[in-house]
Amino acid sequence: MRPFSYAKVKTKEQAIITLTEDKTAAFIAGGTDLLGLMKDRIQTAETLIDINSLPLNKIETSATGVRIGALCRLTEVALHPDIQKHYPVISQAINQSASPQLRNMATVGGNLLQKVRCPYFRNAAFPCNKRTPGEGCAAINGYNRMHAILGTSEHCIAVHPSDLAVALTALDAIICIQGLEKERQISIHEFYLLPGDTPHKETLLKPGELIVAVEIPNNNCSRNSNYLKVRDRAAYEFALVSVALALEIENRTIITAKIAFGGVATKPWRAWELEEFLQNKPLNQNTLNFATELAIKQAKPQQHNQFKIELLKRAILRALSE
Ligand code: SF4
Repeated sequence: MRPFSYAKVKTKEQAIITLTEDKTAAFIAGGTDLLGLMKDRIQTAETLIDINSLPLNKIETSATGVRIGALCRLTEVALHPDIQKHYPVISQAINQSASPQLRNMATVGGNLLQKVRCPYFRNAAFPCNKRTPGEGCAAINGYNRMHAILGTSEHCIAVHPSDLAVALTALDAIICIQGLEKERQISIHEFYLLPGDTPHKETLLKPGELIVAVEIPNNNCSRNSNYLKVRDRAAYEFALVSVALALEIENRTIITAKIAFGGVATKPWRAWELEEFLQNKPLNQNTLNFATELAIKQAKPQQHNQFKIELLKRAILRALSE
């Protein structure tokens, strides 16, 4: 790891001004992803700005929804009684992420901004457009079993790694961002960008801005939600396929469905077309069969991950049946 200096800040303003003035600096909170990237020299920072003392660690619930501070630790969010009761998909997604030790350290904001797990991105010996724009993509003709089948481009096929972001996408979360000006809010659907021909641009976050909170509106689906994750081993593993599902059902008819996929797409993937099809449909085998075909309509598998198509279909079927 290259040497760096360390500065601790106590206010949001101080944090943002320090980062705006020093282009070689980076925020650090849990550090669970950043420190690994710095050790591997994939990311460098001359100054780490420690934001752990900022007052961004509250979970506030109201009749209209919940606001989760960006510095809340993942474990704390997963165990919060209101989250477990009103937004179970969030608790389930977090509990299936990483390991207990990592969940104790990692923050909500850091989790949403974690870097892709593409092995070529994390090894500077290989070309990677996300790490160095214009360099090429080693994964496209490399070993791409873990890569995306949705939202890919000829410049990048890396999967978005966060489980929490998939759950938040199904719940229409809002990302609250603070810059030098006042706080602004962006829907999670717009916040994450498709790789296109600029895979190094992953979100709408501008230089110097800080995620301060995530807001989740209350709706008729969120209580009846779940997260299904399929992976190579039962713990401490990223998703091959995941499905976040929130349903409003009356008399075995789906009134509203909110569905997002993880492990298969370059950003947390909202299944808008599938949701539209499921609206006001009876929850029976015919509906489920048609739904799974619809879900994979746009999928474009890579050389080594054709299996993700069938796996996604079965995961959707299981999540809806449960
Ligand atoms: Fe880099 Fe994306 Fe290609 Fe991986 S898939 S090597 S992250 S450009």
